[in-house]
Amino acid sequence: GETIGIFGGGQLGRMIAMAAAQLGYRCHIYAPEADSIAAEVSAAFTCANWDDGAAMAAFAAQCAVVTYEFENVPVAPLASVGDVPLLPHPRALETAQDRLSEKRFVTDLGGTPAPFAPVDSTQDLADAVAAIGAPGILKTRREGYDGKGQWRIGTPEDARTLDLPDQPLIYEGFVTFFAEFSVILCRGADGDVRFFDSAHNVHESGILATSTVPAPAAMLEQVPAARALAAKVAEALDYVGVLTLEFFATENGPVFNEMAPRVHNSGHWTIEGAITSQFENHVRAICGLPLGGTGMAAKGAQMRNLIGDEAHDWPAILADPANHLHLYGKAAARPGRKMGHVTRLTLD
Ligand code: ATP
Ligand code: MG
Ligand code: MG
Repeated sequence: GETIGIFGGGQLGRMIAMAAAQLGYRCHIYAPEADSIAAEVSAAFTCANWDDGAAMAAFAAQCAVVTYEFENVPVAPLASVGDVPLLPHPRALETAQDRLSEKRFVTDLGGTPAPFAPVDSTQDLADAVAAIGAPGILKTRREGYDGKGQWRIGTPEDARTLDLPDQPLIYEGFVTFFAEFSVILCRGADGDVRFFDSAHNVHESGILATSTVPAPAAMLEQVPAARALAAKVAEALDYVGVLTLEFFATENGPVFNEMAPRVHNSGHWTIEGAITSQFENHVRAICGLPLGGTGMAAKGAQMRNLIGDEAHDWPAILADPANHLHLYGKAAARPGRKMGHVTRLTLD
């Protein structure tokens, strides 16, 4: 089989590599750490740091195609990948890395994010709060995940007293929503677009806790409009692979939150719960193969993240025949760290 290169060594890369192995591909993992959890199921290629273009070139030379599981891969050194196909195209990465550029991009395509304004100073923040109102959330434009790099602004007074971090920020109005959901699609090299069922996502402390399909009816009513936007995003980026858009379901319809140019935690239920998993379809797409069915393979599924060092009784979880346990092989459990997940299928 041919070799797929993956930038990033986390659980998403690990699960892509496992799906790729089933299809006869070998994966090489590019990450600063040699013993990444993705490299445990594939071959490791250690780089000194993410900005090392020469290392990227040497890595790509071993691969038939290169993809990424980590959305903060620096874009500039990616030019070193040269003629080896890099999918999804780096423009998707570039757009999604910056909350300001992704919101502008989606707005231009007719989507509706929360009202937003870039913030680079305390004066900008005061102006943004005056224009948009409070409450709202101040976020770092880059590199935030699991709710990190976010500050709740309850009042204009909060905005005056907050010590701003020295990096580009964005202020967003607080969205009143009755549910959160994601649209996960896969676009093939031939432009074929397939959507997975949209899960109802519940977050706790800014971290995804559960994703459940089928979602409640009131939420599902908003999925067609959200899918139409996601399809436009995919077309505009000439996207190949799995793409995720997160939405708030509100009284006024779906409000775009953010996009991820990759497989997504809210799609882990597809491993057992869909005809083809998000990981397998991503591999099929980047390898130029036909996509697999994205319909449900069970009546329902609920994915629950295993977070932090909470003790779990694995035999008890496995004693339920509807449960599937996934452990990522991470060494030390830190608070808030995603250690694995359990998917429970609804079987009749
Ligand atoms: P991820 O791990 O999904 O990449 P992230 O760190 O990029 O997370 P967001 O998705 O921006 O963070 O926010 C995390 C959660 O915080 C959201 O899923 C939502 O529950 C809440 N949240 C974020 N922005 C808003 C908003 N403008 N209004 C209301 N709730 C919000
Ligand atoms: Mg995010
Ligand atoms: Mg998010």
